Amino acid sequence: MIKYIFLDMDGVCCDFIGEACRRHGRDPAEVIAGWTPGNWDVCRELGVTPREFWSPIQGDPGFWSELNPYPWFDELWSLVKSTAENVVISTSPGRCPTGHFGKATWLKDRDIHPTINGMIGRRKELMAAPGRVLIDDSDANIEKWVAHGGTGLLFPRRWNALHHVDMDDPMTWVRERLEEISRQS
Ligand SMILES: [Mg+2]
Repeated sequence: MIKYIFLDMDGVCCDFIGEACRRHGRDPAEVIAGWTPGNWDVCRELGVTPREFWSPIQGDPGFWSELNPYPWFDELWSLVKSTAENVVISTSPGRCPTGHFGKATWLKDRDIHPTINGMIGRRKELMAAPGRVLIDDSDANIEKWVAHGGTGLLFPRRWNALHHVDMDDPMTWVRERLEEISRQS
């Protein structure tokens, strides 16, 4: 059994990109269909500056608290709970304090204790150690986690190195990787 799994929120549990597209008056399905494979930069995909991108999001805790869970969220949550002794949500809240409030609310609404089972902050790698697994959709976060001694599991999405995996079914890939990691730990 894995001792600790740290689970990212945006792009893994909940659909940050979809809601961000809607706030910019864009159809998420259309944006994703035209997405440059492996490109992390959502501003470039939407053709806006970072300031323009954050403008309808910053200051609105409802943006974060009402993000739609992905269709696989329940399956993913039961998988990690049954694979690890401890599951901790690790999520970066953006620069505005409303992000902390909104994310804590999202977790609380799903009976996940925001401070016991959640670490809201950007420096995920500070929690990395041998035997600790991070599931995250950011190539950069996974690289840092591994550099700090942890085990990384990149969650397949259009905007990372695993863009070739079936986007509608990332769970098959994640389940297989997690089984491999469990066998080694
Ligand atoms: Mg993420």
